[in-house]
Amino acid sequence: MNLHGGIGMTSQRTRARMIDRLLEQGIKSPLVLDAMAAVPRHIFLEEGLQHRAYEDTPLPIGEGQTISSPYIVALTCELASRGNPMDIVLEIGGGGGYQAAVLARLAKKVVSLERIAKLVGKARRTLRELRINNVLIKNVDGTYGYPAGAPYDAIVVAAAMPFIPDELKAQLKPGGRLVAPVGRGEVQHLMVVEARENGYSERDMEAVKFVPLLPGVA
Ligand code: SAH
Repeated sequence: MNLHGGIGMTSQRTRARMIDRLLEQGIKSPLVLDAMAAVPRHIFLEEGLQHRAYEDTPLPIGEGQTISSPYIVALTCELASRGNPMDIVLEIGGGGGYQAAVLARLAKKVVSLERIAKLVGKARRTLRELRINNVLIKNVDGTYGYPAGAPYDAIVVAAAMPFIPDELKAQLKPGGRLVAPVGRGEVQHLMVVEARENGYSERDMEAVKFVPLLPGVA
């Protein structure tokens, strides 16, 4: 089996099948589908798991954390961007950097916050290897966002929050969108918050399963 080259389970053809599946699952934005097709998901996994990279499942990335499934990454990117190119996006819960790499193709600049230093190191190395240089990764607790980079076109949260802090909503541009799994249990609601002229609208999209947002850095 060839894990790195063009003919194994990590080949272009395997990736094309993932895109077909995303279409079937209802992902419509050509920008998002192109970004998903362009980013080599297997590079974000350790060798023993690379052959499963294009399956629709979350997979372990070390430190008890997971890389989100392709569908969840595509869905949250589509909801955040509405299929339009963006200037600046904030990601909370960057993990190994996979979604940041996808977002880097949808926005001019990505700020990605990750509390676990080891994952920050890994993510920086992988993005450098892929020559992606429009992602700023910060080893901080992202619960309240990153006001220094605000306002954002979109905020994508990749860890379950018990509620959405007002401080986060305040970092959206007018018309900007925040996508976050909200709930205290094992299953959460994927919420989309949009900044309107006179307040915020909120929509509940579907049931999702994310790792919990945790306080502090590690
Ligand atoms: N976006 C990642 C998914 C990583 S899983 C991907 O594409 O693969 C969610 C990540 O959120 C974990 O790495 C976890 O360490 C991180 N996380 C949890 N609580 C956090 C917090 N308060 N601030 C920043 N990151 C947090």
